[in-house]
Amino acid sequence: MTSAESLAGLEDEASALDAADALGACRDLFIGAESPLVYFDGNSLGRPLRATAERLERFVRDEWGGRLIRAWDESWMRLPYAIGDEIGRVAIGAAPGQTIVGDSTTVLLYKLVRAAFDAQVAADPARVELVVDTDNFPTDRYVVEGIAAERGGRVRWISPDPAAGVEAGLLAEAVGPQTAVVVLSHVAYRSGYLTDAPALTRIARDAGALIVWDLCHSAGSVPVEADAGGLDLAVGCTYKYLNGGPGSPAFAYVATRLQSRLAQPIQGWMGAADVFAMGPSYRPGAGMSRFVSGTPPVLAMIAMQDTLALLGEVGIEAVRAKSLALTSFALRVADELLGPHGVTVVSPRDDAFRGGHVTLSHPAMRAVTARLWAGDVIPDHRDPDGLRIGLAPLSTSFAETLRGLVATRDALHAETA
Ligand SMILES: *Cc1c(COP(=O)(O)O)cnc(C)c1O
Repeated sequence: MTSAESLAGLEDEASALDAADALGACRDLFIGAESPLVYFDGNSLGRPLRATAERLERFVRDEWGGRLIRAWDESWMRLPYAIGDEIGRVAIGAAPGQTIVGDSTTVLLYKLVRAAFDAQVAADPARVELVVDTDNFPTDRYVVEGIAAERGGRVRWISPDPAAGVEAGLLAEAVGPQTAVVVLSHVAYRSGYLTDAPALTRIARDAGALIVWDLCHSAGSVPVEADAGGLDLAVGCTYKYLNGGPGSPAFAYVATRLQSRLAQPIQGWMGAADVFAMGPSYRPGAGMSRFVSGTPPVLAMIAMQDTLALLGEVGIEAVRAKSLALTSFALRVADELLGPHGVTVVSPRDDAFRGGHVTLSHPAMRAVTARLWAGDVIPDHRDPDGLRIGLAPLSTSFAETLRGLVATRDALHAETA
């Protein structure tokens, strides 16, 4: 088969997949859908919905401009809880009263990991280890190192295969009577490896440890089942697959059974038992309120509501099905078009272990990425040789995916010629 025939075959396949796509119409709801630009970074900064532009305008004019400070009582004070519950319902499988929206992922991670560590050490002073993997996102590793230094803890490192992730056996070897807290990503930010969160949570629990899950690369793309899977604690981003906008605040999940046992370190007035009593000293509030510190970033948390509403309509299972169809199509195209140029796949090929993005490896990928950006094809480069293709299921088509990979082949050709 000539390469022209093979490309025509892939184009037919992409058209057929788009025509049969149950979520195909969602793409037109996003700003920029009409442009030929290829967006492979919806897992890093999601595209905005058209409805969001209207929502923000309405918010400034009517709510902020019209209701002024009265809106705090009328609705804004409840937003961290109301939007949190919605994230719980449509994205992470959490019943109400366990999820809040608040600070950045980094800050919420610090608050939850430190709260968990302190509670564990208080119950058993021998539990001084924090377990994290060498391939985890930098902020997760840095927060864990910082808490260990600050609280007299010890870090135990897991070293997974960078093309895969933290498998059950690796965790089982790392935890024991010395473990306080484990910090893991549900979907690895580089390889896209999807862990079995309930199984790993059971391993940690059997060893007496708590796990804090980082859901940044799964929320809005992979079903989480926080309650059904028995998760302890979790944090996640809202500016990735939840399209909350640059720097939109993160969410935190704390299982009901743990909430009253935990005290987080950034004691602020908004997390106190009676916010407006302005009392002489801090008493933590009930339920999730104790995990809040200061005034909610209202303007920054409203945009995500449009994607949450859309997710509620279509269902996270349909999103996951589309995500798997997109990533497996991308892998097939990569094998066919890029494999002959020496590109290798460093993401799991097994659907059960693959999240919403795939990473392709070649020594020229840094230069290839620069070339692609110049031509309006926007993937991510991840050190050392990775080209990361994020495929946001609600806003990405199969034809777009193919166009981007053909451009990658051409850029690679130009770089290595
Ligand atoms: C994107 C991402 C973060 C980002 O944390 P911020 O505090 O929002 O900068 C954290 N963890 C993981 C796994 C991520 O992918």
